[in-house]
Amino acid sequence: MKDLNTLVKKANPLTDSTALFQLGYGLYAVTCRENGKDNAMIANTVSQIGSNPDLLAVSINRANFSAGIIRRTGKLNVSVLTESAPFSLFQRFGFQSGKNTDKMAGLRYGRSENNLPYLTEHSNAYFSLKVEEVVETPSHLLFLCTVEESVNLSKEKSVTYAYYHASIKPKKPQSTEKKGWVCKICGYVHEGDDLPADYICPICKHPASDFEKL
Ligand code: FE
Repeated sequence: MKDLNTLVKKANPLTDSTALFQLGYGLYAVTCRENGKDNAMIANTVSQIGSNPDLLAVSINRANFSAGIIRRTGKLNVSVLTESAPFSLFQRFGFQSGKNTDKMAGLRYGRSENNLPYLTEHSNAYFSLKVEEVVETPSHLLFLCTVEESVNLSKEKSVTYAYYHASIKPKKPQSTEKKGWVCKICGYVHEGDDLPADYICPICKHPASDFEKL
């Protein structure tokens, strides 16, 4: 397979990276477990990419604590989040690191056959996945997975990334006094005039393209 790390971005006047914003996504809680400790994070990159057997692709930023756990253990669960999911759930899973917090503490959750947690609230289905192959990209690990368990939990509507931005995320950034660049996803402010192109939000791990100038 081609080594994605050697790909060079070509200058092409027809390349407008904001076109990527038109892609539609859902939102998912990805859970994993290592050495008796659960971890959880939010991902928008979960897709079915094959059938018979069903194959799911889950892409996780390398900067996330979960990326290493999933690579080492070869296991993960995906909970499909619904429109009832409160902003606090996204803060809990997405805006802190499992390195120093127990993200599942105080939550209602179940355990699937593989002993990983899955959400029983604000989720309409979960999948237990087994990693069959890992594709390395410069920024992400792409896990190609088979499905070991798939369960419907409710008929509530799945939340989309667009719905999250329009109806769940608070409208105003947390801080309006600082100068610099604000992360449109979590509200973190990077102070300074310049934002490096390879910058990654230290809170939610989103790239520089998700920042806007204050
Ligand atoms: Fe952020």
